[in-house]
Amino acid sequence: MLYLPTRIFLEEGALQKAAKYIAALGKKALIVCGQSSAYKSGVMADLLPVLQAADITHDIYPGIRENPDLQSIMRGKAQFIASQCDFIIAIGGGSPIDAAKAISLAVANDLAEDQLYNSALHQKSLPLVAIPTTHGTGSEVTQYSVLTDTKSSKKAGFGSELIFPRVAIVDARYMMSLSPEVSLNTSIDALSHLLEGVYSIQRNEFLMPLIAKGIKLIIQNLSQCLEKPDYLPARAALAQASTLGGITIAHSSTTLQHALGYPFTTAFGIPHGLANGMFMEQIMNFYAPALQNELNQLFDLLGMSKDEFLSWLNGFPIQIKVELSEAQIEAWIPMILATRNTRISPVIPNAEQLRRILQSVQKQV
Ligand code: NAP
Ligand code: ZN
Repeated sequence: MLYLPTRIFLEEGALQKAAKYIAALGKKALIVCGQSSAYKSGVMADLLPVLQAADITHDIYPGIRENPDLQSIMRGKAQFIASQCDFIIAIGGGSPIDAAKAISLAVANDLAEDQLYNSALHQKSLPLVAIPTTHGTGSEVTQYSVLTDTKSSKKAGFGSELIFPRVAIVDARYMMSLSPEVSLNTSIDALSHLLEGVYSIQRNEFLMPLIAKGIKLIIQNLSQCLEKPDYLPARAALAQASTLGGITIAHSSTTLQHALGYPFTTAFGIPHGLANGMFMEQIMNFYAPALQNELNQLFDLLGMSKDEFLSWLNGFPIQIKVELSEAQIEAWIPMILATRNTRISPVIPNAEQLRRILQSVQKQV
């Protein structure tokens, strides 16, 4: 089964091509974005004339930071209502796009902060347009929103089919202004999503060719993109891989790989993609005995061996170590084991196996 209710424009000039579909969504848009990327990326300069031509007015909510917190969702809800908007346009990386999805549910269902994760209350949503400016999360084509509850210091996602964006506008030109660090980290996030499509017990056979294609695009273009940040064909390949990664996890969901990364982002501020990357080799090796057929199939499609893949991967600076205390390890083990992502992993580690995986990134002091 495949389900994807998002109309995807994945090409240069995507915004202009999508204009008539945006025009059908409402008369006043709340533009949800981060600190500066909506401007730096060039999206705002392209979007405002498109809105004006369609007689759509707008208000801007630029308050989304990385790993959006619940309070920023509530402020977005209040602004949407005060400005009498009727749909949302999200511009940015996964953080503004995920925040926009949560604002949509908060407004449509009149949710309070402590009700955002309550899926029984997710009955309606608002139309949403997603314009990614990073090539990592694939959030423009997923039903997930990942938020951080600062009170419990917990980062966690939820899924609802209601928050699939109606329109996704993926234009690699909007990603040219990414720093080398964000370019690498978000590409590694996309790679995680594609690999987790192979790992997940919800893996979908139809997606295997797309997964292999996405991984190939990253292998063939990541180094080039880091060396020549304004070389558009490499960006376009990574943008495509990222959207393919989103389509993948929309079906397979993410696994232990993501469950491991979340607390490292919250406790150490490690960017999301890198928090996945730091465990990528360990996770592949941990799953490998149980996934021989699936990994053989993948590496046949990629035309390389697992060792060749890992040697390519280890050419990037993603093997970071942190001062992780034994107390943190003990507290995180039950938390990670209790996540939904861990439960759909092909092998669920026991506490001792998980301890060893966590210890593998411990800095020796
Ligand atoms: P992000 O947190 O949205 O942005 C990271 C940084 O990159 C910000 O400083 C941002 O600046 C900057 N930036 C973004 N686009 C830029 C551009 N074109 N030029 C210059 N700077 C730019 O990064 P992300 O990795 O895309 O998103 C990560 C979030 O998505 C995490 O919370 C993660 O958990 C979530 N996620 C969601 C899904 C899903 O399916 N929903 C999947 C995976 C991950 P500004 O502050 O100015 O925007
Ligand atoms: Zn991710």
